Amino acid sequence: MIIELLGPPGAGKGTQAKTLAERLHLPHISTGDMLRQNVSQGTDLGKQAKAFMEKGALVPDELLTAMLANRLDQADLKNGFILDGYPRTIPQAEILDKLLNDRRRSIDIVVYLDASEPVVIQRLCGRLVCSKCGLNFHKTNMPPKKDGICDVCGASLYTRADDKEETIRKRLDVYLKETSGLISFYEKKKKLHRVSADDSSETVLETIIRLAKNAYDTSKV
Ligand code: AMP
Repeated sequence: MIIELLGPPGAGKGTQAKTLAERLHLPHISTGDMLRQNVSQGTDLGKQAKAFMEKGALVPDELLTAMLANRLDQADLKNGFILDGYPRTIPQAEILDKLLNDRRRSIDIVVYLDASEPVVIQRLCGRLVCSKCGLNFHKTNMPPKKDGICDVCGASLYTRADDKEETIRKRLDVYLKETSGLISFYEKKKKLHRVSADDSSETVLETIIRLAKNAYDTSKV
């Protein structure tokens, strides 16, 4: 089962993808996480991607496609995966279709996490991320039990370089201009399922699991 999560920054794609991956025993692919890892390891890709990411701009496809293609060839994806943060443009959706098609695979469902602007700005402004396991916390909505420390693995929490108010606005702008067109792209393909991301993360998770199970059962019919 291949599940794609779509939605504005701050809609909860990363948080949902991680929990969903655990519940469905599927790997989580986040192009943002892969890029951040390249930046922190100082790879050539990371060096080139860094400036785009810090501005809240999209990293060009020339840099991204090979990274994604390599990931799609890894054996752990044989039963499926949860894709978060890719595609972000219609050309990327076409690249993804081709990459999957070449591997005789296709997306099963696209879940659009529909969140309102005030909610996403509030979430991103207080977001804290675990430096080791990647779990997200929030300064007021979901504070860690111990200040600056991940409840689960005990590593330190940090604020992402692009979670500054000015960069958040730029990322939302990029989303509206470049990414929101994907909603009708996948609607036309009859793959899109809308879920209100303003609800609690537990409610959102259960809704996505139900959608995934329905799609799985339908594919067996
Ligand atoms: P995310 O963690 O998904 O919010 O991504 C963080 C940043 O990584 C984005 O603001 C972009 O600069 C870059 N990025 C992640 N995924 C993509 C993508 N599919 N296309 C272009 N840039 C991306």
